[in-house]
Amino acid sequence: MSKVLIVAEHLNGQLNSATARCVTCAKAIHADSIDIVVLSDAPDAIAAQAAQIAGVSKVITVANAANAHALAQVLAPQIAKLAAGYTHVFGPSTTFGKDLMPCVAALLGVAQVSDVMAVDGPHTFKRPIYAGNAIITVTAPAEHAVVATVRTASWPATGAGGSASIEAASVDATLPTHTRFVTLQQGKSDRPDLQSASKVVSGGRALGSADAFSIIYSLADKMGAAVGASRAAVDAGYVPNELQVGQTGKIIAPELYMAIGISGAIQHLTGIKDAGTIVAINKDGDAPIFEIADFGLVGDLFQIIPELEKAL
Ligand SMILES: Cc1cc2nc3c(=O)[nH]c(=O)nc-3n(C[C@H](O)[C@H](O)[C@H](O)COP(=O)(O)OP(=O)(O)OC[C@H]3O[C@@H](n4cnc5c(N)ncnc54)[C@H](O)[C@@H]3O)c2cc1C
Repeated sequence: MSKVLIVAEHLNGQLNSATARCVTCAKAIHADSIDIVVLSDAPDAIAAQAAQIAGVSKVITVANAANAHALAQVLAPQIAKLAAGYTHVFGPSTTFGKDLMPCVAALLGVAQVSDVMAVDGPHTFKRPIYAGNAIITVTAPAEHAVVATVRTASWPATGAGGSASIEAASVDATLPTHTRFVTLQQGKSDRPDLQSASKVVSGGRALGSADAFSIIYSLADKMGAAVGASRAAVDAGYVPNELQVGQTGKIIAPELYMAIGISGAIQHLTGIKDAGTIVAINKDGDAPIFEIADFGLVGDLFQIIPELEKAL
């Protein structure tokens, strides 16, 4: 009998869709119950969103001023306490989950299963290794709770339609004082979120400068798409790090991905493995990106993009 506890990811009172993707993964193990825990200083509105996810049994809220900001070291002891009675504790393999879940696993004395992309059984999972070049099947010991991060790009979000009960819990855990919140720095953008957008337009080193990168933003805005970038474009300072797609950036699964002036290095491709349709624009007809692209345009991006934008 599997009982799954999912740690909700949220920011500014909004539940991140990564949580509903974890629910889909939990359903794949045929869990008898799927609960979501919301840790926050004001969890009610977030819990109400979580309760609507179809198939969720119960939403547990832990209201505590210490939970106002998502600090792994503060949240983990509370989750470890709440984990009693659960066979599985899931979090998304986003920056939030990758920070938090190893702390939870360590407190529970288990090894984390990272980046679950498929479920073969309640304790047997598939996950990518070697930057997504190989898939390994791992089996976690059945006698311990499974603490896992769920590769969000591999699982669609479960839709609304549920009406789970919401229960407030108080957790008796000693919270550390060695880690405290100082400030949150985040980019502000009206564009769709890169991680959850259905369309993404990405630019690479070929753009040549931050100024020139504006044609990527312009095309993306025309299409209502999020903007991404290769690591070379990030390292060169054309765009901020949060736009990086790939092994050391964001793993995304948009319906449409446009790679513009991006060669298609394996570390970039691992970030778009689950993308639907891939369009590549590159002046080098032998660029590796064309091997995986559904549609390819060979030519100078500085000529093609304005033409494309005009046509749109
Ligand atoms: C451990 C590790 C982790 C990494 N993680 C990542 C990661 O997360 N994400 C990532 O992206 N990379 C990552 N990299 C780097 C990766 O190996 C590549 O170096 C990088 O992806 C290259 O970026 P690029 O395609 O923009 O640049 P390049 O490889 O330089 O390619 C530029 C492309 O633009 C084309 N081009 C040039 N001018 C034009 C033009 N005018 N019009 C059209 N096309 C043009 C060229 O033909 C070329 O194909 C990682 C590397 C390592 C070692």
